[in-house]
Amino acid sequence: MSELDKNLQSIEKLLEPLQAETLPHFINGRRDAGRSGKTFAAYTPVDNSTIGTIAAGNADDIDAACQAAEAAFGEWRGLPGNVRKKLLHKVADAIVDNANDIALVESYDSGQPLRFMSKAAIRAAANFRFFADMAPAARDGQSLPADEHINYSIRQPIGPVGVITPWNTPFMLSTWKIAPALAAGCTVVHKPAEWSPYTAMMLAEIAHDAGLPDGVLNCVQGLGEDAGKTLTEHPAIKAIAFVGESTTGSHIMRQGADTLKRVHFELGGKNPVIVFDDADLERALDAVVFMIYSLNGERCTSSSRLLVQESIQEEFTAKLVERIGRLNVGHPLDPATEIGPLIHRRHFDKVCSYFEAAVEDGARIAAGGSAIDGNGNFVRPTLFTQASNDMRIAQQEIFGPVLTAISFKDEAEALEIANDSQYGLAAYVWTNDIGRGHRMARNLDAGMIWVNSENNRHLPSPFGGMKASGIGRDGGDYSFEFYMETKNICVALGSHNIPALGKS
Ligand code: NAD
Repeated sequence: MSELDKNLQSIEKLLEPLQAETLPHFINGRRDAGRSGKTFAAYTPVDNSTIGTIAAGNADDIDAACQAAEAAFGEWRGLPGNVRKKLLHKVADAIVDNANDIALVESYDSGQPLRFMSKAAIRAAANFRFFADMAPAARDGQSLPADEHINYSIRQPIGPVGVITPWNTPFMLSTWKIAPALAAGCTVVHKPAEWSPYTAMMLAEIAHDAGLPDGVLNCVQGLGEDAGKTLTEHPAIKAIAFVGESTTGSHIMRQGADTLKRVHFELGGKNPVIVFDDADLERALDAVVFMIYSLNGERCTSSSRLLVQESIQEEFTAKLVERIGRLNVGHPLDPATEIGPLIHRRHFDKVCSYFEAAVEDGARIAAGGSAIDGNGNFVRPTLFTQASNDMRIAQQEIFGPVLTAISFKDEAEALEIANDSQYGLAAYVWTNDIGRGHRMARNLDAGMIWVNSENNRHLPSPFGGMKASGIGRDGGDYSFEFYMETKNICVALGSHNIPALGKS
C-alpha cells in the first residue's frame, strides 16, 4: 500500500468521530454545542467535498467563553510561574504525542502538504516549551534607583485575551500566540479561521486533557464578522492578538476602540527577495523556490517579489523555470507532494484572477499561469517575468504559489523597488558583499530581513512587520510585553523634601 493510501485510511478513521456530530466550541473545559443552532460547512480543498459541519458561534457563545476566561483568570494568574511552566510542558508533550493526527487533519482541512504540516505540529510543541521555560521570570522587571527613591518595575498579566487566527498553518500559528499568553498568566478565547476549524478544537482538548484548568483556553468557532467581531468588542477581553489580512486589522482596530483594546497585528506582506549578481546563485535559487512554493505560497513571509540583477536575470530565470517545472503538485497527504490545493474555492478564484491581470498589465507568464482541471483547488506553480513594480502582481498580496520577477540595475534601484510597497513584513537579500548586505538590511523598510538565508525562525528574536504588515512584535520577551502590564513602584528611601502646601 502506498504512503498516500495509508494516510487516506488514517484520515478516514480520524474524521469519523468529527463527522458524526457538528464540531462544537470548547468553553470552560467542555465541549459546547453553542447557543445559535446555526452551523457552517467545512470543505477539503482536495475536491471541495464537505468534511463536516461546524457550530457557528454568535455573541452569546463568545460571551460564555469570555466569562469562563474571566472566571479562570484569577486562579491561573495566581499560580507560581514554575507550576505554569510544568503544565505548559505537559501540553507540549501531548502535542508531540498527537503530532501525527494533528498533521493529517490540518493537511486534509487546509490543503497544506503533509511534509510541511508534520514539522508544523512539532514546531507548535516547541513554541509551548520555549514560553513554558520563560514563565517563571515573566513578571520580572527592572531596578531603577534614583537619589532619594528606589523605583522598581514588575509585570502582571493583562487579563483574558482574544486570539484570532487565519487558515494558513493554523495550528502552529495559533500556538505562537496562545503559548506566550498562557505563560504570561493570561487566559484565552481563541477564534480560529472558519476555513480551517478542526485543529483548533484539537488543541483546546489536548491542552485541557494535559491539565490546563477549565476556562483557561476556550475556543469558539464561527465567522469573522460575527464571532470574531463580538470577541474584539467584549469588555472582559483586554487585548486582541490577530493574524490575518491588513483590511481585517483595520476593522478590528475600529471594533476594539470603544473598549480600548490593546492590539497586536500580524498582517499581509509582499516580500522582496533581492538577488545580486555576486551571490551564491545555487543557494539563492534554493531559497527563492522554497520561500514562494512551500506551504502553497500561502505564507505571510513568502518571497513573492523576486528582484534580480539585470546581469544575471536571464540565467537565473531559466534555472528557476526548470526547477518550477519539476515541482510536485499533488494530494496534500502524499508525502511526495510539494504543492497542495489552495485552501478554499474563493481563494483559488482570487489567485487564478492574477493570471489574467498579469497579462493585462503587460507581464509574461514564464511558468504555470493556469489551474489544474478537476474538482480540487490545484493551480500550477507560476512565474511572471518582465514585470514592473507598479503592476497588480507586484503590489497586491496574491497568497499562492505565484512569483513575480522584476529586474534591477544596481543597489539603489533594488532598494527603491523593494521599499515601493504598502507592506513591510520581510525582505531577503542575497549577496556576497558583506557591506552591501548590511547596507540593504539597514535601509529596507521591513520588520525582518534575512541575508543569505530563507526564513529562519529563532524564537527569542522579534517577529513582525511595519507599514501595512503589522503592529507589534512576537517572540521572546516581546510577546510578554504585549500580554502583560508593566507596573512601576516608587518607594522613598528616607525623609526627602515633600512640597508643603497650606501650611502658612
Ligand atoms: P482574514 O483577515 O480574512 O481572517 C483572519 C481571521 O480573522 C479569521 O479567523 C477570520 O474569521 C477573522 N475575522 C475576519 N473578519 C473579522 C472581523 N471583522 N473581526 C474579527 N475577526 C475577523 O485572513 P485570512 O484570509 O484568514 O489569512 C490570510 C492573511 O493572513 C494573509 O493576508 C496573510 O499575509 C496573513 N498572515 C499574516 C501573518 C504574519 O505573521 N504577518 C501570518 C500568517 C498569515
